[in-house]
Amino acid sequence: MTNLTARTVGFKPRERNVFFHILTACNLSCRHCYINPAQHGTATLSLETMENWLRLFLDPARQTNLILLGGEPTLHPDLAAGIKTARQLGYRSVTVDSNGFLFHNLLERITPGEAVISFSLDGPTAKINDPIRGQGVFAACTANISKAAAMGFDVSLIYTVSRMNIAHLHLMPALLKDLGVRRFFIQVIGIRGKSAGFTRDNLQLTPEEWLSVIPAVAQKAAALGIHVIFPKVFLAAGEEFACAGRVAENYFIFPNGRVYQCPLCEDFPVHAFTIEDNRLVKNTGLTEDRFFTLDIPEGCVMNKLLQPGNIRYDDQGNPLYRISCCLLKQEMGSG
Ligand code: SF4
Ligand code: SF4
Repeated sequence: MTNLTARTVGFKPRERNVFFHILTACNLSCRHCYINPAQHGTATLSLETMENWLRLFLDPARQTNLILLGGEPTLHPDLAAGIKTARQLGYRSVTVDSNGFLFHNLLERITPGEAVISFSLDGPTAKINDPIRGQGVFAACTANISKAAAMGFDVSLIYTVSRMNIAHLHLMPALLKDLGVRRFFIQVIGIRGKSAGFTRDNLQLTPEEWLSVIPAVAQKAAALGIHVIFPKVFLAAGEEFACAGRVAENYFIFPNGRVYQCPLCEDFPVHAFTIEDNRLVKNTGLTEDRFFTLDIPEGCVMNKLLQPGNIRYDDQGNPLYRISCCLLKQEMGSG
């Protein structure tokens, strides 16, 4: 029977997740894009560098998951070769995060067992999605989702929730079922990149908006047999806070060689590591890991620094709730 109760997915200390941006170029210009060329560069990695860095981040002692990102990773002509190398090296799973255009005939160049394809769509119709992601994107993306599912690929979908599309989220489960999507990631709009102007655009959600809509839609999708994953965001009283930077192994790699441990830090030159001559070099000075060790009543330190509007206080100045690590997820439904 499908489990319709949200479960928190704790960090797994023996697991390593490698989020590898192989280029920053993209054919789209989404309103909330987090890619920041001033910080992440404009390079497209050569296949040789991609493969060297894949070797660098594989730890045989740990189960290592690889997520290939851009920009739009399928714009890279050697993406399929990189996926095959990652599998041969022993990465436990490979996921390609695509905007749906699937350039260079990706589906014809890899097998369904080699990678999960994760599509991004921000609305259940072109009318909602295309003003956010671009004209014609809904049609192109949904056609490729259907094609990938029909070819036997494991297909996921990421929906970034903001003020622009939260009212339409409830229409997604039925669409996903029709398209053959097995996993539904509901993401919350971040402050990074273009959405850093969220106060102007008023894109970001209040805790009440998030909590009143997301769990109910997740239940609806789970009831249709779709596995749903969504961020925890708010910790209830008694729930433990943990910073992934301290207790988990996540690497966010950019083509200019910067390697972050926390995605909230990616707009700033505080990366913990840099790749130099195919070696991972620990940076000194004011790096992100210096923040991870600060214990504050609000929970996540970077959230407090970058998105203080998320937090409300009582008359005595105590936070009404703590903000969880942005990497802490909840899940619903069968796996
Ligand atoms: S598809 Fe992704 S990388 Fe491209 S503009 Fe949209 S959010 Fe940015
Ligand atoms: S989001 Fe917050 S809690 Fe999570 S890794 Fe970054 S600083 Fe730590």
